[in-house]
Amino acid sequence: MKPKVFFKTFGCRTNLFDTQVMIENLKDFELTQNEEEAHIVIINSCTVTNGADSGVRQYLNKIQKKGKKIYFTGCGVATKGKEVYPQVSGVFAHDHKENINTLLKNKTKFFLPTQNQTHIDQTLVSEFVGKSRAFIKIQEGCDFTCSYCIIPFSRGKARSLPQERILTQIQTLAQEGIKEVVLTGTNMGSYGKDTQTSVAKLIKQIAKIPNIKRIRLGSLEPSQIDEEFLELLGEEFLERHLHIALQYTHDRMLEIMNRHNRFKTDLELFEKIASKGFALGSDYIVGHPGESEEVWNEAYENLKLFPLTHIHPFIYSPRSGTPSASMTPRINGDQAKKRLHMINQLIAQNNFNFRQKYAEVPLKVLIENQRDETFQGFDQFFNKVKIQSSQKLSGWVEINSYTITQEHNFTQL
Ligand code: SF4
Repeated sequence: MKPKVFFKTFGCRTNLFDTQVMIENLKDFELTQNEEEAHIVIINSCTVTNGADSGVRQYLNKIQKKGKKIYFTGCGVATKGKEVYPQVSGVFAHDHKENINTLLKNKTKFFLPTQNQTHIDQTLVSEFVGKSRAFIKIQEGCDFTCSYCIIPFSRGKARSLPQERILTQIQTLAQEGIKEVVLTGTNMGSYGKDTQTSVAKLIKQIAKIPNIKRIRLGSLEPSQIDEEFLELLGEEFLERHLHIALQYTHDRMLEIMNRHNRFKTDLELFEKIASKGFALGSDYIVGHPGESEEVWNEAYENLKLFPLTHIHPFIYSPRSGTPSASMTPRINGDQAKKRLHMINQLIAQNNFNFRQKYAEVPLKVLIENQRDETFQGFDQFFNKVKIQSSQKLSGWVEINSYTITQEHNFTQL
């Protein structure tokens, strides 16, 4: 009997993809989705904030009590690897993950830090466990130096995967039934800078692959969206939703954060894209040092001008080793929570208004899961749709009439 391996993945889509790369390389072990029956647990960690570190740490402590054999990998190796080493059977950085089959057979404990900050995986992922869409990593690393972020330290400089490899990867997945791909990377918009191509050119090639019906994009930076990309917005294959990372809507704070984007040009960009019928999402950080009452009030008024329909706001949490961690004045936690709540309310209302505005547009829903007779998926605007049906729904479903509730769209088939 092969030993059973369970993966616990923390953090972003890049990490999810890395887990798939490891799964693909597990030759002498069996994958299990059931933590309880696993002999071995691989913790694929995230270290984006101190909070992320403590989530990983709590899980490690819990799983250690269960007497499992534990290995530690992911972004946390650079920041917490040494600290957790006594508790685990092995620690290995991103660039060693394709050797996982050999590493798990090691009889002795090991510590393998990053040896090559320019490493690019060779593995083609052939299947995405439990997903109707696949995340495809197209690049690694980041050349930006946002003051709050540790990622360039854990993931290295930006480098692109070869286009041919990405296309072969997607062809393989399309043959396995994947219909939607989500392109992702640490700083996805920098794809192609080192290989004389671009995200837009790559998307055009992916669109030619049979069976791929929809292409979604991970997070883009405003400063990376160029004319070539904007010309793509009329294409059917592109999801009608983009996630563009603003992080903030006031120039003073954007300067403190050492961001490349600025309020006025961001607003122009968002208005241009929204006018083409796109839903728009962003990340937003509240409570970063320096967010005075005056800055916040202006930033919130600015935010109201944006045609934003989705938001992923979070409260700033200091990440040791970054410039922001030693900045002052710090913002009171309750105040930050209040600001977060205001943002969530504002964008939830925007989203509701957007869905009403486009109520005549048929929704193309990719079914992702089911509970009893309720099926759930996301439409082309990345809005949640619930469908009640006694039929067995799967794949793509088109709906022409539906009820719009505050939380989601709903229909019966
Ligand atoms: S790239 Fe960043 S967000 Fe993603 S897992 Fe690593 S530290 Fe976390």
